[in-house]
Amino acid sequence: MEKILIIDDSAVQTNLLRSSLEGDYEITTVHTAQEGLAYAREGGFSLILLDIVMPGMDGFTLLKKLQEEIVTQHVPVILITGFSDIQSEEQGLMLGAVDYVAKPIHPPILKARIHTHIKLYQYQKRIEHMAMYDELTGVANRRYYDRYCVAKWQEAIRLGRSFSVCLFDIDKFKVYNDTYGHPAGDKVLAAVAGAVSSNLQRGTDFFARYGGEEFVAIVTDSAALPTFQHFQKIRQAVEDLHIPHEGGISPWVTVSVGGITIVPKKGDGYDTHLKIADAMLYDAKRYGRNQVVWSNERMEQWREK
Ligand code: GH3
Ligand code: MG
Ligand code: MG
Repeated sequence: MEKILIIDDSAVQTNLLRSSLEGDYEITTVHTAQEGLAYAREGGFSLILLDIVMPGMDGFTLLKKLQEEIVTQHVPVILITGFSDIQSEEQGLMLGAVDYVAKPIHPPILKARIHTHIKLYQYQKRIEHMAMYDELTGVANRRYYDRYCVAKWQEAIRLGRSFSVCLFDIDKFKVYNDTYGHPAGDKVLAAVAGAVSSNLQRGTDFFARYGGEEFVAIVTDSAALPTFQHFQKIRQAVEDLHIPHEGGISPWVTVSVGGITIVPKKGDGYDTHLKIADAMLYDAKRYGRNQVVWSNERMEQWREK
C-alpha cells in the first residue's frame, strides 16, 4: 500500500483526512512542520498532504525545505489550506506543490487528485529506475556510474577521503558463452553481480555494470590495504558460487580484479585514477587471472597470489 504523510496542526482536519483515505493508503499524521520534515526525510512516502497555516514553521517554509533535499524533492506535495486567496495558491504552486486544495475538503475530489499524483509519481520512479539500473543484473548501469563517479570523486577531494575504484572482468567469458550458450552466460552475469553486491559491506559502497562482462565498484573512506583485502574476499565469493566453467582457469567461473586507492587532491583527475585501475586489471589477467592486483598511494603494486 502506498504511504501518505499528512501534516496539519488541526486534529479535526487530520482525523477527517485519515478516515477518508484509510483503507486505500497507509496514513501517517503529524501536527507540526518540524515533525513532518523528520518523517519525510526517512523516505518511503508517495505523497504529502500539507497544511499552510501552522504555528511555528508554516507549510510554505516546509515545502521549500522538502524541495532542497534529495530524498524528499520529488515526492508530490498537495497543499491544503483555509486560504482561498489567489496569491497563496500561486505561491504554493510556484514553490513546487503539485496541487492545491481549499478547505472545506470534498473527500472524493481529493482522493481523485491523490490517485492521479501517486500514479504519476510511481511512473516517474519506474522510468528513473530503468534509466539508472541494468536490466539483466539489477545493479547500477553505466549511465548511473558515469554520474556517480564524478560526484563522489569531487566529494572525496573536498572531504579529504580515500577513494578506491575497482574493476572486475569475468575470466574466459567468451569461452563460457561458446560452451554453455549465451542465455547461460547471462545468468552468470547476474549471479556474479549478485555475489559482489551482497559482499560489499557498507551502504555507501557503489557497484555497477561497466559494460559487457565488466563491473566497477567505488568505495570511499577505507584505507588501501583493508580495501585490497576485502576485494580478495569478494573475488573468492565469486569463485565460491561454484559455477562450472570447463574452459576457465579454475573448475569454476572466476573474475580478475584490478583496483587503486588514493586520497585525491584538488586538480587530480578521475580518469587518471581509473586508468591505473585498468592497468591493474590488465596485470591481473597477465599474471594468470582469478586474482586481485591493487595499487596504493605510493603506486606500489600488491598482488593476491
Ligand atoms: P578474458 O579472460 O581475457 O577476460 O577473456 P574473455 O573471453 O572474458 O574476454 P573477451 O573480451 O574476449 O570476451 C568477453 C565476452 O563477454 C564476449 C561477449 O560475448 C561476452 N559478453 C559481453 N556482454 C555479454 C552479455 O550481456 N551476455 C553474455 N552472455 N555475454 C556477454
Ligand atoms: Mg572484458
Ligand atoms: Mg573477460
